[in-house]
Amino acid sequence: IWQNVLDYVRQNINDVEYHTWFEKIRPLGVHGGVLELGVPTSFAGEWIKKHYAELIQEALTRLGAQTPRFELKVVPGNPVQEDIFSAPVQAPAPDPRSRLNPKYTFENFVVGQNNRLAHAAAMAVAESPGKAYNPLFIYGGVGLGKTHLMHAVGHSVAARFPSLRIEYVSTETFTNELINAIREDRMTEFRERYRSVDLLLVDDIQFVAGKERTQEEFFHTFNALYEAHKQIILSSDRPPKDILTLEARLRSRFEWGLITDIQPPELETRIAILKMNSEYRSMRIPEEVLEYIARQVTSNIRELEGALMRVIAYASLNGVEITKNVAARALSDVFTARETDFSPDDILRAVADHYGLRTDELKGAGRRKEVVIPRQIAMFLIRELTQSSLPEIGQFFDGRDHTTVLYAIQKVQELADSDPSIQQTLRSIKERLG
Ligand code: ADP
Ligand code: MG
Repeated sequence: IWQNVLDYVRQNINDVEYHTWFEKIRPLGVHGGVLELGVPTSFAGEWIKKHYAELIQEALTRLGAQTPRFELKVVPGNPVQEDIFSAPVQAPAPDPRSRLNPKYTFENFVVGQNNRLAHAAAMAVAESPGKAYNPLFIYGGVGLGKTHLMHAVGHSVAARFPSLRIEYVSTETFTNELINAIREDRMTEFRERYRSVDLLLVDDIQFVAGKERTQEEFFHTFNALYEAHKQIILSSDRPPKDILTLEARLRSRFEWGLITDIQPPELETRIAILKMNSEYRSMRIPEEVLEYIARQVTSNIRELEGALMRVIAYASLNGVEITKNVAARALSDVFTARETDFSPDDILRAVADHYGLRTDELKGAGRRKEVVIPRQIAMFLIRELTQSSLPEIGQFFDGRDHTTVLYAIQKVQELADSDPSIQQTLRSIKERLG
């Protein structure tokens, strides 16, 4: 539970505050529905109560506590001579291995039909880096285990070949570091750093699309490593051929080695993942509860794990056993919350506002080009953001047929895939919705 609270807190305050106040809190357990937390000094306790009580309660409510309560206890414990103000303001030392998440190992990776090939390829690369497949390109949807698999190779190589240098970097970080290096005139250092590694893991490479300078720099990094027989692993949410505005020379390099995908997991794999996860947290949860959760969340493992954590937190905060009914209750607001977030009317209005049209024009029969695409976009967004079925959406648009809706959705998807301005439009309409 505490880890989940921390995750939430972390998203809402800055790093310095987080290091100063939250890293030293020790969860002591849940007693009578109250979460007990140990703090190093009474001063820290007061401060946290005064400034962060609401945030912590908010986090607990999100985890399903009906009455979010926590208590702070002073537990001097480990040497707290450390001044609570001397929190590290700087990022931790750049030990590349520290960029690897300790949970993301091969042992903790459940192999199913959906990821069998990607897993096998990753194992092969971990056994003989630079020799099996180079580069290894793993692609698949959000939350399906690409990052996990990359880190697993990192851990495994680190254990087998302690002398090898391993660097994990997200494409975003790579880009930011590059920009800083250019600005601060440290390009030599930057190049040195990335060209002297033995295993380079680059996550979410699709984000290089459209970034010419990053592509240029990455191209040279790639060549330097490749020629030196150093291993490169790339991940992406789509295959190289679908990364638009990727320079041809990079695309062809990405295709030199092995391209492998990860698909959404089948039910059995989802259950196995939940089981492993609960064991990892030393929790015993009835099989039927795991199955229930696995049936609710089908396409994203991160959300699947989130649902499990929510059930655990809900049961513990409300002092009840974990049963199927409790799981249903714990998850009910997650799924209904999503449903009630936006109504078709809200979305229709946002689209109308965006295009300067009236809502009745969008709903009506007009075939003018100026209304047809906005109408299709509205259908697309209603499908994406509400639980409405195709026939319901058709009904909403003055009784159109569901095949019209389906066609509209496919059309917008195609447009969005090929035209960044449509993606931008979709984003700004969503921003309007807040
Ligand atoms: P991606 O990078 O594809 O968006 P992640 O690697 O971040 O996804 O995975 C999301 C979460 O799901 C992580 O907590 C990860 O540990 C977990 N996960 C993904 N695939 C598996 C798997 N096959 N077995 C166990 N956990 C998995
Ligand atoms: Mg990832």
